[in-house]
Amino acid sequence: MSPTKRRAVVDQAVCVACGCCVKVCPLSAIRVERGLYAAVDPARCVGCGKCAKECPASVIRMEEVAR
Ligand code: SF4
Ligand code: SF4
Repeated sequence: MSPTKRRAVVDQAVCVACGCCVKVCPLSAIRVERGLYAAVDPARCVGCGKCAKECPASVIRMEEVAR
């Protein structure tokens, strides 16, 4: 079995660009792009899940990805 890591994925079609996720990310791995939607930098994200808990619109899911 190959090792996996968790990372956050934003459903950008329904993100309301409130920026709550940006404030709680300890690694600055998520940001709001062009004031439209949040985007995760997969190289920085450690999969802590803080952003997903904070999102008022529940549009962030945690995903297992191969390393
Ligand atoms: S899961 Fe954690 S590290 Fe990744 S974007 Fe969300 S708050 Fe940041
Ligand atoms: S907290 Fe949720 S709705 Fe707000 S910017 Fe982040 S992903 Fe979008």
